[in-house]
Formats: sequence, C-alpha cells, structure tokens
Amino acid sequence: MTAASMRIAAVFAAGLGTILALTAEGMRRADAAGEINVYSYRQPFLVKPLFDAFTAETGIAVNVVFAKKGLVERLKSEGDNSPADLIFTVTSTRLEQAFEAGVTQPVQSAVLEGAIPSQYRDDEGHWWGMTLRARIIYAARDRVPAGSIGTYEDLAGPEWRGRVCSRSGKNGYNIALISSLIEHHGAERAEEWLRAVKANLARRPQGNDRAQVKAIHEGVCDVAIGNHYYYGKMLENDEQRPWAESAYLVFPNQDDRGTHVNISGVALTRSAPNRENAIRLMEFLAGPGQTLYAEQNYEYPVRPGVPWLPQVEAWGTFRVDALDLATLSRNRNAAVRMVDRVGFDQ
Ligand code: FE
Repeated sequence: MTAASMRIAAVFAAGLGTILALTAEGMRRADAAGEINVYSYRQPFLVKPLFDAFTAETGIAVNVVFAKKGLVERLKSEGDNSPADLIFTVTSTRLEQAFEAGVTQPVQSAVLEGAIPSQYRDDEGHWWGMTLRARIIYAARDRVPAGSIGTYEDLAGPEWRGRVCSRSGKNGYNIALISSLIEHHGAERAEEWLRAVKANLARRPQGNDRAQVKAIHEGVCDVAIGNHYYYGKMLENDEQRPWAESAYLVFPNQDDRGTHVNISGVALTRSAPNRENAIRLMEFLAGPGQTLYAEQNYEYPVRPGVPWLPQVEAWGTFRVDALDLATLSRNRNAAVRMVDRVGFDQ
C-alpha cells in the first residue's frame, strides 16, 4: 500500500467509525442533552458541517434522513407518530407545499424574526429561509460583450435568436423565476416573454443548470439561466472548470427590480417530538451558523450583514428583487400551465 492509499483507507475507516458511532453515540447523548431528527432534501455535505458545529456547541445530537424526494409524503403518512422535527429543503415553493400538506407548525421566535427578513419567511412562521440563491445569467466570455445583456427580459430579444440554453421550464428553479415574472408583469406579458425565450432557444430544454454552462463552453449557445452557486461548484471540479471559465456571471435587472433569488430553508414539523431543541437549531442556523451553512455551497447568508465568502463576494454584490417569496407559490400553478401552453420543453 502506498502512503496515499493508506491515508485514504484510514480516512475511510474513520468515516465508517463515525457512522457506526452515530447511532450509539446519538442515543447516549439523547439521554444527556437530547437529540433532533431531520428530514433533509439537502445533501450531506451541505448540512453535516453545520450539524457537527451545533452538536459541538450544545451536545444535542442531530440525526438525519437524506432523500431526493418523498419526505413530505413520508411525513404525511407517519402523521403524529413521525420522529422528524425539521425539514431541510430548497425553494420557497417546496416549503409552502409542506405547509399545504399540513405537516408543518408555526414557530414564534424573536431570534428568527430579528435575523430573517420578512420576504424570506412565512408570515405565520411555518417556514424560514436560511440562505439565498440567485438565478442569474451565464454569458459566453468570448461571444457576449459585457453589457450586451442585462435583464431577464433581454433574453426574449431578437438578437438572442438561437443563442439561449435552458433546462426544463418545469424545473422548480425556473417555475419560481417565471412566477416572479408573472408577479411583476402580469400573466399576459409573462407569457409573451416565455414564448419569445422559447423561440430563442438553441436546443430543446435538457440537463441541469451546469449542463447549460457546459453548452456555452461547447459553443451550443451564448447565454443561459442558472443558479449562481454552480459557478463555484464548477470551478472546484477539474472536469467542469473549463465550463465555468468559458462564461461570466450577469446579475440581471440591476437598473430596475433586482435579481431573482430563492432560498434554502427549514420548517418545523407538526409532530416534532424534540420541538425545543429543533427551534434551538433553527436559531443557531440563523445566527452563528449562517456563514458556515452558506459557504458550503457558495450561497448568500439570509441574514443581512453576515460576511460572504470572499470568493462569492468577488463575483459581485447586487440588488436583489424584493419580492415576498410567498407570492411565488401563489403563481406556481399558472407558471406550470404557461410552460405547457408555450410548449417550452417541446
Ligand atoms: Fe441547485
């Protein structure tokens, strides 16, 4: 065994030990200081450092169930017997759907209310945004002169015919963006916009956000919509770095309403057997945990005044669309029907 592979083996064994220890250790701690059970749509690498920091500070163990889908359904079927205390997910719409499914409960907390601006949380405290994510425009460095595209509305212009890439219009990120356009312009103008963007597409919608930047790198298209943090994710990946380096970031609508943002957030479940501890974790997340949570994924802390990761700050500060995210859910169904009507994904 080489030194390197021995090191890998050792790390792997240590990792296994941690996982095995988690259950026993978690239960032991539960006696002493209690525990919290989390259902998370967010990936382990995003939430683990945060939970570890919380446990180190409080002695409260955090047990997590990770899943890509089905957690709200699971909460519904488990009902009052659910062991879950908190749901971690992205986009206000998904949090709102958990509320509509009846699996959340309101939280009253002066700490949370003081930390989180009102447009990023439910009025009654059923869900709380913890980080911000901007939906921006990626533009080809060598084919799109700086300043030639500045708004989401510009994507509908004739000069971009055959030059735009997009993932499915039905994707939650795009539905939220379209919902914001409905809110700002009304349904009729939003539909005209969507139809024109569809007409400008270089290819049928496909792939995820990163695949659109890859397409810019390959010369398939010149501009694409994507979430900002993928820029950082691509730069740290050897295969994807050239994709990121082929594009620059445009924070849209700086001269008017600002760039569309969404949240990652948390909701307290209706059953929450460890309610007090769970609220404590939420308050930790909105307080000392802000930087740690945001920087795992190059996101922005939701709490005003919390420093950004230097790399993220280097991408630019920007004006944010002040829209109350609860309004996005109101327009969600209209946005989905609109995507169908204009045949966006066809
Ligand atoms: Fe994402």
